[in-house]
Amino acid sequence: MRDFITPIGTDCKKLAIMGGTFNPIHYGHLVTAEAVRYQFHINKVLFMPTGHPPHKPFFDISHTEHRYLMTVLATVTNPYFDVSRIEIDREGITYTIDTIRYLKKIYGNDVELFFITGADAIHEILNWKDPEELLRLCTFVGVTRPEYHKKDLLMKIEELRQQYGSKVHFLEVPSLAISSSDIRKRVKENRPIKYLVPESVENYILKFGLYKDI
Ligand code: ATP
Ligand code: MG
Repeated sequence: MRDFITPIGTDCKKLAIMGGTFNPIHYGHLVTAEAVRYQFHINKVLFMPTGHPPHKPFFDISHTEHRYLMTVLATVTNPYFDVSRIEIDREGITYTIDTIRYLKKIYGNDVELFFITGADAIHEILNWKDPEELLRLCTFVGVTRPEYHKKDLLMKIEELRQQYGSKVHFLEVPSLAISSSDIRKRVKENRPIKYLVPESVENYILKFGLYKDI
């Protein structure tokens, strides 16, 4: 494993993690990360393409390096964004708690960790490995996502707060009804993906012929 740790700078006091499969990364991810960065005065947003997530079948996931490189291309124009290889370089199934423990160890206790989750992901949180510890180590931000009810999200956040006394925030982000699954489907069916993903990502997908066979 390449042990590449993203330098965050000594001034970084608030680090947000934007976890996802990013297969491929799209404007919904980018707009969400930027909204959270601004709202919570985050110094750095670390995009964390997942390795082998427990909840997604292996065959569903395009080559890891493609997902990583598209994430780099999409984030390069934002000085506050960076991409981490921690999860994709880890062997075996990826659990968020292992990543968070690792980040705590390398960046220290002075850096407050935020974890950004879309409305769908926050509903799953209690099924993740060691949720209590996760909710203790991180401040969570649950963001709105089209097709998921804001009311349900707010209720879930309130439940987590009451049960775990955890720091869970709610944030309404500009609504973009974009998903990676829809983008993959569009590519397969030769429908446009322009303006759903950055141009560099669109070009990358075309150049390497991604998502034609899935
Ligand atoms: P897939 O359709 O393959 O599941 P996805 O579009 O849901 O892909 P993921 O990589 O699974 O993307 O999502 C990473 C994170 O980004 C999750 O927390 C998810 O809820 C959030 N997210 C994805 N798309 C949006 C969107 N359009 N608006 C807000 N949050 C989003
Ligand atoms: Mg998803």
